[in-house]
Amino acid sequence: MTKRIVVTGGAGYIGSHVCVELLAGGAAALVIDNFSNAHPEALNRIRELAPGDLEVLERDLADPAQSEDIISAVRDFNPDGAVHLAGLKAVGESVTEPARYYRTNLGAALTLIEALDAADAKNLVFSSSATVYGDRNESPVDESGLTGPTNPYGRTKLFIEDIVRDIAHSDNRWRIVNLRYFNPVGAHASGRIGEDPNDIPNNLFPFIAQVAVGRRDKLQVFGGDYPTPDGTGVRDYIHVTDLARGHVAALDYLAAKKTGGAVDINLGTGKGVSVLEAVAAFKRASNRDIPYDIAPRRDGDIAEIYANADLAQKLLGWRAEKTLEDMCADHWRWQSQNPEGYQS
Ligand code: UDP
Repeated sequence: MTKRIVVTGGAGYIGSHVCVELLAGGAAALVIDNFSNAHPEALNRIRELAPGDLEVLERDLADPAQSEDIISAVRDFNPDGAVHLAGLKAVGESVTEPARYYRTNLGAALTLIEALDAADAKNLVFSSSATVYGDRNESPVDESGLTGPTNPYGRTKLFIEDIVRDIAHSDNRWRIVNLRYFNPVGAHASGRIGEDPNDIPNNLFPFIAQVAVGRRDKLQVFGGDYPTPDGTGVRDYIHVTDLARGHVAALDYLAAKKTGGAVDINLGTGKGVSVLEAVAAFKRASNRDIPYDIAPRRDGDIAEIYANADLAQKLLGWRAEKTLEDMCADHWRWQSQNPEGYQS
């Protein structure tokens, strides 16, 4: 039977790549998105890359006035399960507007859970984050690592994990995977879909890409005196296509799983890369200069975190395949072909 999957936030950076992988594999997708941080053009590009059964519902999952509508649309779609990606994701903004983050991220998750319950489609893949680990673990960190996010955004991710654990505990028909993403970067190899930040990018790769393309003068490297090999922060960057395939693998795992429950799974490469290594790799891929200054550390940043990704290999049969060179080349192809993002 063809899989029918609800994808909340399906027009966004990760969601658009998840949709392409689902559709390419013959699944049908219902995207629910309010386009608050996504562009409708992404849907045209998804259709172009992976023609198939793609439906779109423009709604705000966090708005109680829209929930009845959403619940009935999900029921009508008759899904097998869902990938939940919709939510706010800017760490700094979450510190200044915590109430909005809690209402939006928790509200959206709860509405989706109600809709899946009503549709009797109790397979759920939730977009969590390595940020739930905070700064309390030695790397490589596995899923038994201590949790303790250091900002409201990260706490919304951990709270939703807790909520779905309670739900799985209350009703053993629920089968749930919390995917703890490390640092998603890159773009579809076609250059047609990619990350299109609204404002000044918070994250390293979109910022580097905008410097390379000439939209920004120089990169600020946040901290040059961390206890890492070159003094700059170390992260586990993962190609967004590998990440998207991890969602498909998680859905397949849930479909085949005999028992209910919620499980946490890291999606990373298992390899740490410093800011300066990332800059050097991007410079090679783009053949552009990437001027930078060493700036003070950014509040709340940690020196180093990268994944132990063995559980994903064991349970999902998934592992990251793309290299740092692929991430940079594909990110650059997207950025150079779409210098102003989807409105180019
Ligand atoms: N970073 C940086 N300059 C920037 C953005 C990020 O030096 O303009 C560094 C940041 O300090 C961290 C790494 O790049 O060491 C990854 O940051 P990002 O915000 O992309 O992801 P995080 O792991 O912090 O969620």
